[in-house]
Amino acid sequence: MPGWDQVDRLVRDAHRSYATDPEGTVADYIPVLAETDPDLFGLAVIEVDGGIHDAGDATHAFSIQSISKLFVYALVIQEVGHAPVREIVGVNNTGLPFNSLIALELNDGHPMNPMVNAGAIATTALMPGSTTAEQWERVREGLSAFAGRPLSLNGEVYRSEAATNDRNRAIGRLLRSYGRLSVDPDEIVDVYTRQCALDVTAHDLAVMGATLADGGVNPITGRRVVDAEVCRDALAVVAATGLYERSGEWLFEIGLPAKSGVSGGIVAVVPGKGAIGAFSPRLDAAGNSVRSQRAIGYLSRALGLNLFASA
Ligand code: GLN
Repeated sequence: MPGWDQVDRLVRDAHRSYATDPEGTVADYIPVLAETDPDLFGLAVIEVDGGIHDAGDATHAFSIQSISKLFVYALVIQEVGHAPVREIVGVNNTGLPFNSLIALELNDGHPMNPMVNAGAIATTALMPGSTTAEQWERVREGLSAFAGRPLSLNGEVYRSEAATNDRNRAIGRLLRSYGRLSVDPDEIVDVYTRQCALDVTAHDLAVMGATLADGGVNPITGRRVVDAEVCRDALAVVAATGLYERSGEWLFEIGLPAKSGVSGGIVAVVPGKGAIGAFSPRLDAAGNSVRSQRAIGYLSRALGLNLFASA
């Protein structure tokens, strides 16, 4: 990374460049998300040496949604191990939308991809705990350790999604029908719905991503959250799958592992260097924040972060 001043200037430039970009629409399939102010836009970079750069609405809270999948996946590999998680959940892109049921039907109920709903529900089910309440507590504590502060549930988002998530409950039942869930499907979908409703900020996302960039040590708290091998596994999977069916285009253009969520967040990780957190609720057709993608792309180019570039 260049010096602190230069990174800070570029973060501000990236924010300014897209602050009035009108493209994209706010998600409305979770009723309460439709009420989000579409013009919110936050950007943050955290460096592994602890450097902090926030721009715009970097401390505005929003529900983490699908970005939780990346961090729960890392926590579960830490607990259960590389090989079982690879076998049970899989590591490939389905090439289908995040809430697809077809992908499960085509693969004998095997989720294939831990970064879409079926695979994420199967992953959360692997979290140790003798009850789903205990599993939920471990998810919340683990995500909080990544963020370096206690994360709390957005009750309004949770209730809004829990009242309307028939699709995810169908996915849970389908997993169960294929013998791929050893816990109650409705209960584990409820834990998954809660994990998606944890409130974070763009700044938090950058800290969480920087923990993965830093071999599992949170660069702000200094606390180890997961092992370095777990970060490697999680980043490899998310590079192939993190932006749903746009993952290939994203990696081709930007060259960084990243994960998006329907509330408008994206975290992009630069192994060994740091992470970028972004939030803007206007989404493209696959459900990825438009301004967040563009601002991260700007920083990837300006800071020379593309992992595949040799010069
Ligand atoms: N909670 C959302 C869902 O399960 C998360 C989806 C997303 O962010 N893409 O539908």
